[in-house]
Amino acid sequence: MRKVFIFNPGPAVLPEPVLESTSKAALNFAGTGMSILEVSHRSKEFDALLNETIDRLRKLLEIPENYKILFLQGGASLQFAMVPINLLAPGTVADYVDTGSWSSKAMKEARKIGTINVAASTKDENYTRIPTASELKFTPESVYCHITSNNTIYGTQWQSFPDTHGVPLVADMSSDILSKKIDVSRFGIIYAGAQKNMGPAGVTCVIIRDDLVDRAPENTPTMLTYKAHVQDNSCYNTCPVSSIFVVHEVLGWIEDLGGIPEMEKINAKKASLIYDILDESAFYRGTVQKDSRSLMNIPFRLPSEDLEKEFLSGATKLGLIGLKGHRSVGGIRASIYNAMPIEGVEKLTAYMREFEQKNS
Ligand SMILES: *Cc1c(COP(=O)(O)O)cnc(C)c1O
Repeated sequence: MRKVFIFNPGPAVLPEPVLESTSKAALNFAGTGMSILEVSHRSKEFDALLNETIDRLRKLLEIPENYKILFLQGGASLQFAMVPINLLAPGTVADYVDTGSWSSKAMKEARKIGTINVAASTKDENYTRIPTASELKFTPESVYCHITSNNTIYGTQWQSFPDTHGVPLVADMSSDILSKKIDVSRFGIIYAGAQKNMGPAGVTCVIIRDDLVDRAPENTPTMLTYKAHVQDNSCYNTCPVSSIFVVHEVLGWIEDLGGIPEMEKINAKKASLIYDILDESAFYRGTVQKDSRSLMNIPFRLPSEDLEKEFLSGATKLGLIGLKGHRSVGGIRASIYNAMPIEGVEKLTAYMREFEQKNS
């Protein structure tokens, strides 16, 4: 058993059984006598693992057959560029909803490629909420609409996805993929850096509807086209073999737990333990609007910055790691992704109650 609970925003905690099976595969993968760090991405053993990883994800998220599943490199940050490079042709426009730093970065990349319309932004309110449906000003002829499903830094999350009237919805789900049930058929593209909820750093998952695969202009460098990666089943070049292995193990762990519905229940329970304190206490103050609260990242403030420092150093002593808020928000942030055990959240909330008693 580990001695620490990791609340880091990303790379983030992984389930212990996954660390165990990964350490075994680091020495001998699938009886090959080779480490998962050594094995060829063209070997039949790895090929089987890659396809099983795709199958597991398809089953868990109920991904329809007309969607391809890719495991790429370059992080969610490369997808900020790849989405417009592939879809935002000259003379067209795409809608973007600005709900935080990651949305803004996606917008910055898209503007280098073409024209975007900001359908709504909550920047003036320091991104403390998700825009309401009536605030969203979509362009009827836009080629896609981009959203960030969970805003890792600000701690807000779309509670229901917007109706884009047939325009493909493109979502950065880096920090909440696999945390709850979603209807994939409502999306054109879903992408996620794995290092929050899916696995380790170094691999990015892209779920893309068939009709969007082959839209890149002729002169697009091959590595930047979705088509090349679809044609070669994510092995156009050397894929991130060991990172994909870990994703395979994480998906197996979710299956064993009872799948996404069970995961969703556990996540709701974990988050409510913390939100209950924020609601009851005059000492802790949540920083986001209640109707926009994230179940994955929970930022909050204490009465003073001195108390926040003291809170953080006391937490570290107890083995509660990574609770410092992002520098743009300050305060505390508890990132409680899928792999954070409920015991970790219980230990945190017990510490919160004790710290409040001592200091108020
Ligand atoms: C962490 C994060 C990113 C950045 O991911 P990289 O893989 O580092 O490029 C993008 N979007 C969201 C929502 C994130 O949480």
